[in-house]
Amino acid sequence: MSQDTSTLPTSETDTPVFASKAERKQRVNDNKLSKRIMREVGRAIGDFNMIEEGDKIMVCLSGGKDSYGLLDVLMTLQKRAPIKFDIVAVNLDQKQPGFPDHILPEYLEKLGVPYHIETQDTYSVVTRVIAEGKTMCSLCSRLRRGILYRVAKELGATKIALGHHRDDILATFFLNLFYGGRMKGMPPKLMSDNGEHIVIRPLAYVPEKDLIAYAKLKEFPIIPCNLCGSQENLKRQEINRMIADWDKKFPHRSWNVFGALTRVVPSHLMDPKLHNFADLKVTGQADPEGDKGFDQDYFDDHLPESLLAAGFEEDHDEATPGVRQDAFTPAQPAASGEQQIVFMSKRRSGQ
Ligand code: SF4
Repeated sequence: MSQDTSTLPTSETDTPVFASKAERKQRVNDNKLSKRIMREVGRAIGDFNMIEEGDKIMVCLSGGKDSYGLLDVLMTLQKRAPIKFDIVAVNLDQKQPGFPDHILPEYLEKLGVPYHIETQDTYSVVTRVIAEGKTMCSLCSRLRRGILYRVAKELGATKIALGHHRDDILATFFLNLFYGGRMKGMPPKLMSDNGEHIVIRPLAYVPEKDLIAYAKLKEFPIIPCNLCGSQENLKRQEINRMIADWDKKFPHRSWNVFGALTRVVPSHLMDPKLHNFADLKVTGQADPEGDKGFDQDYFDDHLPESLLAAGFEEDHDEATPGVRQDAFTPAQPAASGEQQIVFMSKRRSGQ
């Protein structure tokens, strides 16, 4: 029996004419979501010079939505980027009870991406050493970190990519602020603590809700993250709830805090290691940005002028609500402007 193909979609993204209004709307939203995530990842890569010509990126894949999203986006960018870089996906099978160890190899085979599964029974070690009822995460992640560094070395990886997103960065900042007594976040790019690796977080600008929607759209074969039986840190849960609550009640707030992480003013904090207060002298030159000294800072319901001037907007933006596209540009641009330009030019031309 022959089929009338006149109403069939001609590509994955075409909307068939027989689709309902709701389906067409969903298709449009899905396309927007994919483009937005690609654009934000490309922007983070450019802003922090995360990927360079000839890099071999080890993408750490846990089987959760974030790392699946990271691998998917990096593989797409790899095809489009004018620079050449390699990807190797790595999963650490920690032998947690019930871990379905066939899912990732099958998925990665289908993708055709080079991969390595490292099997190390850290679960037995952790459950043997940590008393029952105590949180195992600290030792577990320490062991995992050491293994992944070793694997990166063995595979000749030049960068290690992790799937942390915008909300992870915000939560870490608040955890440090509320419970650690210091202003410290989760950087998009850093040198590993053993001094031997560069770790990157290409999803740094992507909010978690977009990754949840992307995982659904792409039907990633998610592996549950509670197999070890350990509870997520209660303090982190509390912070995540706080941010989610803000997002409902004050849509600007979490983006403002996130933007603020890229616009630090050391002279207006109190860390003498960052600003030389001791040797401060008058210059005789007026500074319009300078402190008024006797005036109190005043904030109302709108974004303060300083933030508007810094690139923040009152209106929501499709990509990053409440924040203009240049709002994340770090004070010190990434070292390789050329690479930033190549990623940005691709984004601008909508590729
Ligand atoms: S949740 Fe489980 S697997 Fe994750 S760090 Fe904690 S103990 Fe390890």
